[in-house]
Amino acid sequence: QAKSEGGNLHRFYVADMTMRAREAAELDTELRQAIAEEQFTLYYQPRMDLATGLIIGAEALLRWHRPGIGIVAPAMFLPRVEENGLILPIGEWVLKEACRRAVEWQHQGLPGIRVSVNLSALQFRKQDVSLLVTEILAETGLDATLLELEITESVMLEDTDAVVRDLHRLRELGVSISIDDFGVGYSSLQYVKHLPVDRIKVDRCFIRNITTDPNDAAILRAIVNLGHSLDLTIVGEGVETAEQLAHLRIEGCDEGQGYHLGKPMPVEEFIAFVKADRKHVYLA
Ligand code: C2E
Ligand code: MG
Ligand code: MG
Ligand code: MG
Repeated sequence: QAKSEGGNLHRFYVADMTMRAREAAELDTELRQAIAEEQFTLYYQPRMDLATGLIIGAEALLRWHRPGIGIVAPAMFLPRVEENGLILPIGEWVLKEACRRAVEWQHQGLPGIRVSVNLSALQFRKQDVSLLVTEILAETGLDATLLELEITESVMLEDTDAVVRDLHRLRELGVSISIDDFGVGYSSLQYVKHLPVDRIKVDRCFIRNITTDPNDAAILRAIVNLGHSLDLTIVGEGVETAEQLAHLRIEGCDEGQGYHLGKPMPVEEFIAFVKADRKHVYLA
């Protein structure tokens, strides 16, 4: 009895694995096609300078226009493309596209607007990121100071010496580096002080209850104070309400991003958004 049950379980398990492997293989085929047919697009989320209230940049966020389904967020396919290596060609496309757009902005009445691009750990492991960026800056003609790269601590857990060398070269070019999702996992300021980093983006989990949870408020205050003494710019992520925005301003947080300040949007919408924003400021 027990044996036959085990046998059945094994059969179910194998059937399940086969199905999942087939699903993954089908997704891989679709993702390859997505690259070939340029089904990827970038949305841009405004970044605000909290002291002036001006939009000073945008984070480029990957979207997949999946045929028959619609716009798909990265959570649905990033884990897969990091597993199968497709993040390398996709990541290159993202960098090139974001830089190309940022150059256009400079000529479209949005001077000084910078673009921020997320990089995966695999890109640092498999590619010479500083060389890739050098080539893309030359090809697109983007001023290096208008490019920001966002990395997470998973990048730091890679071969640290190699990553640090790469980051140093990037900064020599004039590119700035941000630590994304700061505060979750092992990231600490003790660690960051040894790294060639310009900004830290405080993870939105600390911002969510910032106005009601004294612990989160204390953590933010500590990050701002220590970060500033290390000459870092502090960015608050996931700002969803006017109260959170006010709190970040009072605490001296430098920059903010979040649905309250602007959702990720297609490039044409972003351009119109910034133009309207500047007009408002001029009139005020
Ligand atoms: P991230 O870099 O931390 O980007 C911020 C994420 O938070 C985005 O999700 C954004 O839409 C979302 N967000 C922004 N403001 C708010 C807010 O006020 N409330 C809430 N609840 N969420 C907010 P998205 O676009 O789904 O991207 C998820 C993650 O996927 C990104 O997190 C980033 O780690 C990764 N990702 C996105 N684009 C790329 C890319 O081109 N390359 C790589 N390697 N990773 C990317
Ligand atoms: Mg990011
Ligand atoms: Mg983040
Ligand atoms: Mg993230």
